[in-house]
Amino acid sequence: MRMRLEIVWPNIQKRHHDQQTNTGSQLPTKQAQSTLPQYPAHTQEVGITLQRGGVCPIMEKGVTLDRALELALHSPLSKRTETLLLELGRGRILSKPLSSKVDDPRFDNSAMDGFAVMASDCVNPGAELTIVGTSQTGGHLPPRIIAGEACRIMTGAPLPEGADAIVMVEDTEVDGDKVTINGPARTGYIRKRAENLSIGQEALPAGTHLSSASIALAGTMGHGVVEVIKKPRIAILSTGDELVQPGTEIEPGQIYESNSHALASLVESMGCEAVRHESANDSMDELRTTLDSLSDCDAILTSGGVSMGEWDLVRKIMEEEGDISFWRMKLRPGGPPMFGTWKGIPLFGLPGNPVSSLVVFHVLVAPWIAKSLGYHPEMGPRLTQKVSVKLEENVSGAPEKLCLRRIRIRSEDGQLLATTHTHQGSGNMHSMVAHNGLTLLPPDTDGEAGEVIDALWIL
Ligand code: AMP
Ligand code: MG
Repeated sequence: MRMRLEIVWPNIQKRHHDQQTNTGSQLPTKQAQSTLPQYPAHTQEVGITLQRGGVCPIMEKGVTLDRALELALHSPLSKRTETLLLELGRGRILSKPLSSKVDDPRFDNSAMDGFAVMASDCVNPGAELTIVGTSQTGGHLPPRIIAGEACRIMTGAPLPEGADAIVMVEDTEVDGDKVTINGPARTGYIRKRAENLSIGQEALPAGTHLSSASIALAGTMGHGVVEVIKKPRIAILSTGDELVQPGTEIEPGQIYESNSHALASLVESMGCEAVRHESANDSMDELRTTLDSLSDCDAILTSGGVSMGEWDLVRKIMEEEGDISFWRMKLRPGGPPMFGTWKGIPLFGLPGNPVSSLVVFHVLVAPWIAKSLGYHPEMGPRLTQKVSVKLEENVSGAPEKLCLRRIRIRSEDGQLLATTHTHQGSGNMHSMVAHNGLTLLPPDTDGEAGEVIDALWIL
């Protein structure tokens, strides 16, 4: 991995950095100083923004991904729970662990259709035993067997007392009440009581995403109902005069709106309810009315309008009427995001560029949801998996920024290899489909062909 030497950091930002880390007394106003939260000294830049109500909260600018998540978690998604019938639980997330109400298996039983025998009777091929009964699933308890006897048994039926092995039906020949044993008598064909789970054992931790297998396990453990996290309602609002819904007439200068569709599907994948709103125009009044209409939602994701431009009105309205916690991240792509609250509701101002908005969801919004709601790191819903990949070509990093280049990851000879296929523009949504991963190149660091680097595999 090659560290870049050039540092590109505008002077103005550097000055803010010095002010914050060296001498707090140089901050612009006394009021701002007194309201400064005690953030760690690694904070890169602190900006002051005048906000409604005469309060001057602190807005950090140009934060690292870790810092962005830390700040966003000061306003977590609120967690509520509900109890559902097991059959309605698929895809939901457990809010508390589930322990088994029974041993699994509940009793010693046969893994095969065949005969329950004493292994010592079956040492010589062709042994003949007397059939003394049948063990059926859900039937009466089978008779005890003694030396020279066998009991017919079905898969899953209780092992008769006295038996210590099973012979497969394929290895037997029946004649009246006699059975000839032509194959091995195996103790391994007995499924022992509690060999999977013991009563009281916790098998599904809190934060588990209920897949079909975990639903089945909850059933195996005797749970007819499950307590799950109530789906938070997350509003999605695209902004921009140029946006029209796909499938409708399009005029010159307009583009089809795509971000809200991607974000809605990501929100649903993270176990939340997506409340997609019609795109808002670049108008302060329309934005205000629309944001106010989302008061029954638990969080708001906007896309677009958070950069430096005159028409970046999400930033402007949040600056003037909301509370901003941070603006801009040291990330490429995905530099412009903003986080704050609108009338107390957490709001992520995601970039308008389609790739950037998706990438920021993956690396910031998804972890914020997961941490807020206590998702289990391995068993909870997640969109990406951190892996090590070997680069097949040089990949350039970014000055001062964590660089998330799109890569295609494939497995070959036990190793994950990564290549790039399309150009990496942040407006190129095709690049998110042609690739299935993102590099995690540290700031000022290029990746070289043959090198193993960290990456996120998009699941
Ligand atoms: P903005 O952040 O509003 O300056 O938008 C940056 C770029 O992303 C512009 O080219 C927009 O047209 C485009 N864009 C913004 N929002 C969306 C959206 N919802 N769907 C597709 N493209 C968008
Ligand atoms: Mg815009």
